Amino acid sequence: MFSKRLKELKPYIPGEQPGDANYIKLNTNENPFGPSPRVKDILNTFDPENLRLYPDPLFKNLRSKLADKYGLLPNQVFAGNGSDEVLSFVFFAFFDTLNGNLIFPEHTYSFYPVYCDFYGISYQKIPLKSDFSIDINSFLKTHEIAGLIFPNPNAPTGILMPLKEVEDLIQRFPKDRLVVIDEAYIDFGGQSAVPLIDKYNNLLVIKTFSKSMSLAGIRLGYALGNEKLIAALFAVKDSFNSYPIDTLTLKIAEAAVSDMGYYDKINKKIIQNRKKLTLDLEQKGWNVLPSSANFIFTRKEGLSGSHVYKKFKEKGILVRHFNHDGIKDFVRITIGTDEMMESFMSVLKTEF
Ligand SMILES: *Cc1c(COP(=O)(O)O)cnc(C)c1O
Repeated sequence: MFSKRLKELKPYIPGEQPGDANYIKLNTNENPFGPSPRVKDILNTFDPENLRLYPDPLFKNLRSKLADKYGLLPNQVFAGNGSDEVLSFVFFAFFDTLNGNLIFPEHTYSFYPVYCDFYGISYQKIPLKSDFSIDINSFLKTHEIAGLIFPNPNAPTGILMPLKEVEDLIQRFPKDRLVVIDEAYIDFGGQSAVPLIDKYNNLLVIKTFSKSMSLAGIRLGYALGNEKLIAALFAVKDSFNSYPIDTLTLKIAEAAVSDMGYYDKINKKIIQNRKKLTLDLEQKGWNVLPSSANFIFTRKEGLSGSHVYKKFKEKGILVRHFNHDGIKDFVRITIGTDEMMESFMSVLKTEF
């Protein structure tokens, strides 16, 4: 009774979420500071009567708030159940194997090849430079491209592509192929490509409430781009599930967006803690890639990443290790509060 399709699936493996609250979680890039206090107000005053009806299938209020935030029109905004869902709709809508391969960096968000396999999209991984940054020339040298996707800053390296270079890349890219920039981590010190949207019809920018907005638990992500691209995503959504975002999530997200002052403050603190952790690690002889995200990617000569991961886990701290050729000796560490970073450094000093 199992389909052939099912047997061929190669699911993504998410970071551990142990029910055990005693772990210090530095493994899935969640925000260590809670969401805006306005989110709590919503939860305290929400009337369950509102749950009797289906949610708004067009997310009109949320889209108009997001459009205002970015100086766009509501019809340039799509939203979904986490940016993972938005990304899967993007893959379905825009990457056609008849046009060639989808290209993305060799080391990047490991959900991209999973969606490719799911939808039968052929892809080509483009090697990074020796410093682990993205080489836009090798993107542009590739032929028979169905489209391009990369996170900026890239994951799990944390390395940012400056906006100038992003625009150079889009300018030189085929106009009839989509460029998707996954900006899950852009609020931790990068410059967003959103201002380029009105200039380039083939640019789609993906964002999430999970990292900088500290709302991974509500599952909400969105896409910004030309209205025709957005209409295509609505067509996919309405062929799959008309109501991927529930009423309470919409209310929570609208409240969070109205309090960007709060988020600027907590995310500045994360940037400070990232700088401090980087210096502390370098002082101990660790090599840290230059990060513009809420995590760092680091290794120490002579240590394997899986050994580092295991040692930290024994001491109650979860970090992320990817068993992928080329990055096996690295671990990825989410930036936490002062206390979390102190615990991390104290384990590092005694164990390594
Ligand atoms: C975390 C992450 C996502 C997924 O975000 P959700 O909105 O929680 O689904 C997408 N892309 C990248 C690069 C991420 O790191």
